[in-house]
Amino acid sequence: KPELHELPVPDIVSLGAYADQLQREAEARGEVLPPPIRLQIGEPNFRTPEHIRQAAIESIASEVQTYGPASGWPWLRELLAEKIARVNGYTVQPANIAISMGGTGGILSSLLATINPGDEVLIPNPCWPIYLPQLQIAGAIPVTYPLDPANEWLPVIEQLEQQVTPRTRMLMINSPGNPTGAVFPRQVMAELLAFARRHDLYLLSDECYDQIIFEGEHVSPASLLSRKEFEDGRFIGIYTFSKTYAMTGWRIGYVVAGTRLTKTIVDVLNANLTNISTPIQRAAAAALTGPQDCVVEMRESYRRRRDLVVRQLKEFGRYSYTPHGAFYTLINVSGRHGESRGGRQFALDLISASNVTVTPGQGFGTISDEYVRISLAASEEELALGVKAICQLAD
Ligand code: PLP
Repeated sequence: KPELHELPVPDIVSLGAYADQLQREAEARGEVLPPPIRLQIGEPNFRTPEHIRQAAIESIASEVQTYGPASGWPWLRELLAEKIARVNGYTVQPANIAISMGGTGGILSSLLATINPGDEVLIPNPCWPIYLPQLQIAGAIPVTYPLDPANEWLPVIEQLEQQVTPRTRMLMINSPGNPTGAVFPRQVMAELLAFARRHDLYLLSDECYDQIIFEGEHVSPASLLSRKEFEDGRFIGIYTFSKTYAMTGWRIGYVVAGTRLTKTIVDVLNANLTNISTPIQRAAAAALTGPQDCVVEMRESYRRRRDLVVRQLKEFGRYSYTPHGAFYTLINVSGRHGESRGGRQFALDLISASNVTVTPGQGFGTISDEYVRISLAASEEELALGVKAICQLAD
């Protein structure tokens, strides 16, 4: 019998299941627990806006649902070229865009299009855990570079330099970042770009949270490239509708790259996906052409929640920093004298003590071992109760 591939699986689901199990056990004993406060999920707690849902319904009712182009329909790629100019500050043509199954599908297709088995890929520590199984599927060797908690979780170029070998093929960056909420300033982006150029690397920029930004600006590295360098070069931008428009379950995102590179990525998409279904692409088009107030409203509520959490952590005397984007923050949960039970044990103890779920930091990388991640995709009330429970248990 052939061996199955073992891929690294993140812990998020099992913790939610553990909370459910405790709930069931309590019910069996005749106890009533308050419902779990779930702060571990990286998913907007908003419904997809009505006009977006309606566009999919209209497509199903009125359009013939044939196969479509693997790159996505031209009308959507036209709209996306406008969005890239408006939000990300660089100019592309529809031929530079491929519609993917969320950012997830965009990253995997890009890796499969560019990486040879044994190539080394630089990824941040901490990072979104799915990078690891994706790199494994592509046959790549992940090499981590640290994001520095003492420096608001920004990368340090000297440390990146130490990780480069002749086999390094790609630098992956993620700003606004999950799990940190860090937003790389323009200068840092320029340095990262220069680093990738110096070592002739692909630069894969995961910009899935590009429109969830609280202050400052989101700088797309591609906006710092000349058109020629973008076309000849090795830049790959990863984007999604999931976060900006609360469309996680719809599974639609897009990749932006030079024309030749996009063509290869489309070949990969063609081989594993054929196309994203037309009603979903119609919904995405409606998201882009419809009113953008929903984007602003969601962002502002994440901001209020971020402010509340930062304020509360300061009041409790906990380590805190100010996440400038995305909708997460890492909380250091070591005791007053630096003693640490590790994020995973803390997360389990927290469920038992208060029925609050958080994600252990080590799921995102070794650096965040003493941290837990909370998501701001919860109500202010839940966040206030959750952060209080975290601080009390940590003390
Ligand atoms: N990149 C990062 C950093 C993420 O946090 C996520 C989702 O949580 C994704 C990519 C992929 O999201 P999706 O596939 O829903 O677009």
